[in-house]
Amino acid sequence: MMRRGHTSEFALLTDVGRIRAHNEDACAADEAAGVYVVCDGMGGAAGGEIASHMAARVFLETARLAAAHQPAADWRLEQAVLTANRAVFDESHREPELRGMGTTLVSLLVEPAGARVWTANVGDSRCYRWRAGELQAMTDDHSFVDEQVRLGLMSAEEAVMSPLRNVITRAVGSHIDVAVDIHAHDAAPDDVYLLCSDGLTRELDDSEIAGVMSQGTDDLQACAHALIHLANEYGGSDNITVVLVRL
Ligand code: CA
Repeated sequence: MMRRGHTSEFALLTDVGRIRAHNEDACAADEAAGVYVVCDGMGGAAGGEIASHMAARVFLETARLAAAHQPAADWRLEQAVLTANRAVFDESHREPELRGMGTTLVSLLVEPAGARVWTANVGDSRCYRWRAGELQAMTDDHSFVDEQVRLGLMSAEEAVMSPLRNVITRAVGSHIDVAVDIHAHDAAPDDVYLLCSDGLTRELDDSEIAGVMSQGTDDLQACAHALIHLANEYGGSDNITVVLVRL
């Protein structure tokens, strides 16, 4: 999907990868509200799929509703994540086989004038900014290994190799409440933002992602395809989701 509106142009793409039987990632956008979201679900049975789709839908509905009243962006994002968290948590208690399901969530909110963007994230799905040929990470992972790296207890190289690299320390829907990281960032014309699940970042490191983006971002759909294609070339061990947004 790709459109050009008054605020932005975007592309959404998700792929099952080469190993998994199901795609437990979800992505969604509301161009008019300037909100984009990626979720990566986890849980037994159909739990992962249910959690990610429910979180993305409820998050977007809440963010869109709040947009009509023009409250502060950080409040909007927090309410939207908390509402999604509660919806997934409640659903997980309706069926025994869904108990414990949860999902990551990463979101970008573009302010109407396009001068600022906001990120909100829970878990290890990420937001990056591509500006003037440089890729910048905009979010911190809520994962065991990333927290060890930030504390200086593990090197980045050890984190990549760690058997614990799958362990995330926060998820939407796993508990009755959730802590959300929300940050504002100055935006510039022609910034491109990348939201992605770990199926991309497991296969491609930052320099490899930058390498694909340096091939061209004029056609966002083609760029999203190229990122997913390369992640599949490198193994496609997990579901891969890419959302690209140009201001
Ligand atoms: Ca994943």
